Amino acid sequence: MTFSRREFLASLAAYPLVMNTSLQAADAPTILIIGAGIAGLAAARSLSDQGLKVTVIEARERTGGRIHTSRVWPEYPLDLGASWIHGQRQNPITELANAAQAKRIATSYDNAELYIDARLKQLGVQGTNETAMENLVSKALKQAANLDTDISLQAAVERVVNKPLGSAYQAQLNFYLNSTYEQEYSGSTQEISAQTVEDNEEFSGADVLFPQGYDQIPNYLAQGLDVRLGQIVSRINYTNAGVTVKTQDQTYKADYAIITVPLGVLKRKTIQFNPSLPAAKQAAIQRLGMGLLNKAYLRFNTVFWPKDIDWLEYLSPDAGCWVEWVSFAKTGAPVLLGFHAADRAREVEAWSDQALIADAMKVLKAMFGNAIPQPTSAQITRWAQDPLAYGSYSFNAVGSSNQDRQALASKSGRLYWAGEATHSAYPGTVHGAYLSGVRAAKAVLKLV
Ligand SMILES: Cc1cc2nc3c(=O)[nH]c(=O)nc-3n(C[C@H](O)[C@H](O)[C@H](O)COP(=O)(O)OP(=O)(O)OC[C@H]3O[C@@H](n4cnc5c(N)ncnc54)[C@H](O)[C@@H]3O)c2cc1C
Repeated sequence: MTFSRREFLASLAAYPLVMNTSLQAADAPTILIIGAGIAGLAAARSLSDQGLKVTVIEARERTGGRIHTSRVWPEYPLDLGASWIHGQRQNPITELANAAQAKRIATSYDNAELYIDARLKQLGVQGTNETAMENLVSKALKQAANLDTDISLQAAVERVVNKPLGSAYQAQLNFYLNSTYEQEYSGSTQEISAQTVEDNEEFSGADVLFPQGYDQIPNYLAQGLDVRLGQIVSRINYTNAGVTVKTQDQTYKADYAIITVPLGVLKRKTIQFNPSLPAAKQAAIQRLGMGLLNKAYLRFNTVFWPKDIDWLEYLSPDAGCWVEWVSFAKTGAPVLLGFHAADRAREVEAWSDQALIADAMKVLKAMFGNAIPQPTSAQITRWAQDPLAYGSYSFNAVGSSNQDRQALASKSGRLYWAGEATHSAYPGTVHGAYLSGVRAAKAVLKLV
């Protein structure tokens, strides 16, 4: 029987959680995995299931990394990092979710309601003019593709748009660029590459989220693994003979290591590599963008918005301001989730919780009227300030391409690499990170 690449990866995903002891000889190589996010856990699971001795070193006091379920409101587990399996068909995370018997609920971008700000209604705006915007951006990207040098998505759009823009048109364009690109890729339109922005792939099928929390997936993978929590790696020495990893209070030695820390951490150089990383890898780290997507969950005493709608969208003259909301009424929770992406997200990270909630309420009142209740509490993320992520996920910044992701993924001596930013087809996603971990494990297994 021959296997396609996808079938092979899917079969790895479906490995039962039992240990194959065939490789557990005394001289089997030892492997350190830096980071217990989904990439690190996928690599550790695959190698451990093949009988290799694997130790996972994680700075946080929990596994999951950018998958982080909050149980601050015990009856409503909510995800502060990833929420969805994007495209559940043939997606390896679906297989894991099935194996973990994790309940899922589908949401759809088509099940959306648009709310138009009164200032735009006065100008006669009745909708988002999506087809016109789609055509405009598609023309902009086609023209940018023929340029010798890459430009930003914003610059590409400005080359094809008829000026001057009326304020109604400008608001519709901003809405489209924010909801379609900035919220999706987490970079700003000024930073996103016009030439390579769409060089990724997607799985088909519904987008599903986990009403009992995404952490069921990392928890499932982590069962029985040797994970050392609270170990902040500061230095990695690698030679032809092996790898030494230093944390605040321990030194770990192994034959090989798999590095899965986020691109944001690599950009900040909080881990010292000795010898320095190869120039191509350093250039890739610099060129690729680390974006920002933040979440604000507001909890109310009652659901005052339409119960059966998934996405509540807000079209206003204020660019990037509370454009997208998700209702959790479907899961039984009187909770709204508002997003901020890119520049606007960076700006509001500096605000206090109180100021952010007041701003959100101003918008919700514009959408639903002044009679709506105040939230009883809120949970707000600030991923750019998280020193173990320094952002939400990677995107193709101007001048970067999948070649940079390949350079990031390529091995350097005894160091192997995984993590969402190293995956060319599915960057910025849980499934991309997972597949990158399986890929790194496969490369290490070839050495055995
Ligand atoms: C707000 C938000 C929403 C998202 N929504 C979705 C979504 O709906 N669907 C989707 O598919 N994806 C989504 N993503 C992206 C997804 O969460 C990530 O792509 C994926 O979880 C990354 O996994 P990873 O293993 O590559 O990295 P991580 O999960 O970040 O794992 C890396 C680990 O390395 C650890 N680490 C860092 N520095 C050190 C150090 N010095 N020493 C030791 N350990 C260290 C970190 O603590 C972390 O645990 C979202 C992300 C965010 C932030």
